[in-house]
Order: sequence, then structure tokens, then C-alpha cells
Amino acid sequence: MVGRVLVIGAGAVGNVVVRKLAQLPEVFPEICLASRTKAKCDAIAARLNRKIVTAEVDADKTEQVVALINKFKPDILINVALPYQDLAMMDACLETGVDYVDTACYEAYDAKGFSYQEQWEYHERFKQKNIMALLGCGFDPGVTNVFVKYASEHHFDEIEYLDILDCNAGDHGLPFATNFNPEINIRELDQPGVYYRDGEWVEIPSLSIKRNFAFPQVGNKDIYLIYHEELETITKHIPKIQQARFWMTFSDSYIQHLNVLRNVGLTSIEPIEFQGQKIVPLQFLKALLPEPSTLGDKTQGKTNIGCIMQGKKDGKPKTLYVYQICDHQDCYREVESQGVAYTAGVPPVIGAALMLQNKWRIPGVFNCEQLDPMPFLNFMNEFGLPWTEKVGVEFDTKI
Ligand code: NDP
Repeated sequence: MVGRVLVIGAGAVGNVVVRKLAQLPEVFPEICLASRTKAKCDAIAARLNRKIVTAEVDADKTEQVVALINKFKPDILINVALPYQDLAMMDACLETGVDYVDTACYEAYDAKGFSYQEQWEYHERFKQKNIMALLGCGFDPGVTNVFVKYASEHHFDEIEYLDILDCNAGDHGLPFATNFNPEINIRELDQPGVYYRDGEWVEIPSLSIKRNFAFPQVGNKDIYLIYHEELETITKHIPKIQQARFWMTFSDSYIQHLNVLRNVGLTSIEPIEFQGQKIVPLQFLKALLPEPSTLGDKTQGKTNIGCIMQGKKDGKPKTLYVYQICDHQDCYREVESQGVAYTAGVPPVIGAALMLQNKWRIPGVFNCEQLDPMPFLNFMNEFGLPWTEKVGVEFDTKI
């Protein structure tokens, strides 16, 4: 089956999504890219070798998304704007009967933290309407969830320990810049670290647990334990896992900058009075930092994101490391993007294609680990995200 696709969000990830959709004209014959700033959609469209439709939309407003859907008549909507807009877009999909894909779980503008709970509450309504929402279909969350499901079905009787390792060894030469939306990235780090152990969530002070890991093709990097949203869904859907943790690499310089910004109050989401108007310090900081879509040509090096799983197979202990490596400059040559936006932007295209082809389509609201991993993993190999697996890689399961 082929389908008309509406993409909302024309940032770093939106650029990758549209360029990868354009590589599959047999699946996606018609593409519309809409965002808050139409000029950004037009700039992406101008560099494509296919004609696409562009539009302006404020996706915080369900009625605007509904109007756009009624005009363009898509079969599927890919949300790569910001997590704040997830519910408004899901409401629009419900009203119009359109399938939905996103890459990040809902967050409210004015509250810290995030959970899938509010999006899961749409399950029955999506089912009744015979439409599907695929949640968190980026790289992490997204591919990492698929890796765990694959390992649980093909390598283990039981996964006991899961460690997700996200390494961005890219260097853009700038003193401080984030590789995806700065506001969302800093909100993610400006909260306690949390991991899962024996049915409980254990909280630790932010960035207080550090390890070093030798990443294939990258080398030794410091990794920090942080909370990440796929821990919530994977431990729910693969409940035998005893311990699940998420680790991310940060350079000393990145941590120093973050600490200073936090110490002076610039990462706060509490509005303050400034020269007669209310501003949110983190939104002000975001306006000062480089846009992630401008980092493509500057970034050198590789990303390596994967999962180490330890458990039992046929009564014997087994360890498996499944990972994917991207080179920032290879990504730039292909789609004029750095690797982080590339790794986040390819998976929603795969998810949307599998939904349209009825290989990943069930009415209701789903996370990636609830679906058959093989069509997704095979697609990744052919579509710019080849992955590798290694048996026997050790990772200390103690805290
Ligand atoms: P950017 O900041 O580069 O782009 C966000 C885009 O969304 C901008 O074009 C912005 O418009 C648009 N936008 C913001 N608010 C609205 C609105 N109300 N209505 C319509 N458009 C809006 O972010 P990224 O591309 O880096 O990230 C996009 C998403 O991808 C985020 O949700 C992020 O969390 C997610 N992500 C997921 C990853 C994963 O692996 N799962 C990894 C990396 C990112 P404007 O330009 O006008 O501000």
C-alpha cells in the first residue's frame, strides 16, 4: 500500500525525515512538510529532488492540525516537532482518522519530567477509530526498544539486565551546542538519574554515576547514568527484566557548561519577570544556542548507540551487545544532517512505511517493542542504519 504522509516539524530531524521519505516514492508518493515557520519547510523543500507540499501550522492547536489534515488528506502523520505537541496532534488524528507516529514522549511546557501514561490513555479511542499511534519511534527511544525485543525473542529465554548505551563522539568545534532541540535536551538532563531495579524506580542525583566504556569504532568514553523514556515502556512490555539502565556520553566540557548554566538559573522552566515581561530562562537559553539543524557540516566523528543485555539461554548465562554506528560526515553527504538527527529521523520513516505496508499496523497505541522486530531490523540494514551484534561483551551490572 502507498500513502500520503504529513510531516510536522521542520528542524534537524524533520529535514532527515523528509529526505528519507523522498527516497521511497513507491511508498510515499505525496509528502507535505508543515511547521510553525513555513520558511524552514520551504528551505528543506528547495533542496529536494522531488516536489513536496509545504504549509504553516501551529501544532499546539489541534484545530489547526485538523484543518491541515482535512486539506492535505494524509494517511499518516509523522510528528517531529516537539514533545509538547504530541497530545494535540493525537487529538487531531483521532478527529480525522489518521495514523500517527512520533519520536519522543509527551512533555508539558510547564512541568518537569515525562511519562508515556497520557499517550497510553488514547489506546482504546485509537482502537475504536481503527487507527494506530506508534510512539517513540526514533533511535532512542525507538531502535533501542526494537533491539531489546529482538534479543528477547531470538537470543534469550530471559533478559535479566539491560544497559542502553548512547554515545555521540561527534565534535562540532563549538564550545557548547546540543545535537537535538536544546530545550528538550537540557530538560532531559536537568532531572535526577533514575534506573529500574526489581520492580522499583531508583533515583540518584543528576549525573552522579559515571563509568567508562570502550565503544566499537569510537574508543573509550565517559558515560553517565540518566533517566530515559524507553526504560518506562521496555520494563512494562518485557517485564522479566530485573534491572534496566540508560547511559549517555558527555565530555567534561559539556558537563562544565551545563553545571554553570544550571547554577546561574538558565536551565529553569519557571517563568521570571524580565524588563516588564515574563520569560522562561530555558527558552531564552534555547534562543542563544545554535540550532541543531546548523551543525551538519561542522560535525566530525561517529555515533554508537546500542544495548547490552545479560540473561539466560538454555539455562546458561549469555551476554549480547547490539549496536549501530553512524558517521556524521557520511550522514551529511547523504541528507545534509549530523548523525544524531539522522539516527532519530530514519526510524520514523521505517515505522511509517511498515504501518502503510500493514507489517506494523494494529489499531491502538503502541511502542516499538510491542511489534515484530524483524521487518524493522531488515529495513534498517537497507536504509542507512546497518547494525551489528556481538556475543560476550561484559558490562558490570552492579551500581
Ligand atoms: P528542532 O528544534 O531542530 O526542530 C523542531 C521543529 O519543530 C522546528 O522546526 C520548530 O519550529 C517546530 N515546532 C516547534 N513547535 C511547533 C509548533 N507548536 N507547531 C509546529 N511546529 C513546531 O528539534 P529536532 O529536530 O532536533 O527534534 C525534533 C524532535 O525529535 C523532538 O521532539 C526531539 O525530542 C525528537 N528527537 C528524538 C530522538 C530519538 O532518538 N527518539 C533523538 C533526537 C530528537 P520553529 O523552527 O518555528 O521553532
